[in-house]
Amino acid sequence: MPEFSAPVPPEEVLRLDDPQSGLSGVIVIHSTALGPAAGGCRFHRYASDADAVTDALRLAEGMSYKNALAGLPLGGGKAVVRMPDGPFDRTALFRAFGRAVASLGGRYVTAEDVGTSVSDMQCVADSTRHVAGLPARVGAAGGDPSPWTALGVLRSMEVAVQRHLGASLSDVTVAVQGLGHVGFALCEQLHDAGARLVVAEPRAEVAAEAARRFGASVVASEELVSAKAEVFAPCALGGVLDAVAVERIQAAVVCGAANNQLASPAQGDALLARGILYAPDYVVNAGGIINVAAEHLGWGVDEARARVEATGERLAAVLDHAAAERIAPHAAADRLARAAIARAPRQPGLAA
Ligand code: NAD
Repeated sequence: MPEFSAPVPPEEVLRLDDPQSGLSGVIVIHSTALGPAAGGCRFHRYASDADAVTDALRLAEGMSYKNALAGLPLGGGKAVVRMPDGPFDRTALFRAFGRAVASLGGRYVTAEDVGTSVSDMQCVADSTRHVAGLPARVGAAGGDPSPWTALGVLRSMEVAVQRHLGASLSDVTVAVQGLGHVGFALCEQLHDAGARLVVAEPRAEVAAEAARRFGASVVASEELVSAKAEVFAPCALGGVLDAVAVERIQAAVVCGAANNQLASPAQGDALLARGILYAPDYVVNAGGIINVAAEHLGWGVDEARARVEATGERLAAVLDHAAAERIAPHAAADRLARAAIARAPRQPGLAA
């Protein structure tokens, strides 16, 4: 009988080392229990190989849980490529990365992540078909995943605000941290839903645009966490919910797109102790990977939209489990994801 709440160890770690192109890094296949391991390729400067591997292991495990709870027929994986110190040929580097992905025979499917773009994925596609995040074809899913991520966060926020405050979005103020690809789209959708907005964004011209278009109040980032708002929506950085922030939050609900919002699981428990509803990040921000999955698996736009629209229902199931088990929502999400992975039948030709 598997222990449903036990962490799942990675299935495979492939070191990337191609001196000719400068490719160096790692692909982690965390789990193929539910299908090919899917997760983006991060391109970033790391101080050491060990740092890159640690990041990839953590991110790949997160993708397994995100994909499992999103109900996708995909496992979890991640690639981390170290940005070379000196000059390099970006096309050659991502083609070499594509050859590494191809060598895994479909056990890992890549896409964009921090530091990689559609044009990088087009280079990867020169070497392998196990890549998504390519330009969308008419009527098919694909293209920029960010508006889909924002839509999933919006649906989740509706559920969280209703359950915790008995209110709808038109009754509340939402504090949005970071007006990038997801944050700005979220503000647009929240404005359409009648919510009031207070925002923080270091790019002053983008913040001014949100003030002009959505009537948002603009504050400094360090003030946003304690801004007077019912909902705090982190859409910029990971680790934003540290011990200090958790004490300062004025909002009753935390629901946003940023990955790895909790500095540590202890902060999830601390939020619960303060009576603040934390909507687990990887449950609510799955819209982007759903869009990537739809592209890779050949689903139409309608199927992708229906699955993203259902994000709020998936959050409700996690919150029900948390309430029934008297545990914090982040712990409930991990438990349910590990249980889904443990229950999965072996994938022929995938799982070892
Ligand atoms: P982005 O880089 O487009 O946007 C991030 C924004 O945050 C930028 O506008 C940046 O100026 C701003 N920012 C940086 N530091 C800030 C600070 N201290 N205070 C306020 N704003 C700050 O990234 P994105 O694609 O919009 O993703 C946002 C977050 O959501 C990331 O954590 C990402 O990992 C996560 N996420 C994104 C997607 C997606 O579909 N793009 C999917 C899942 C999760």
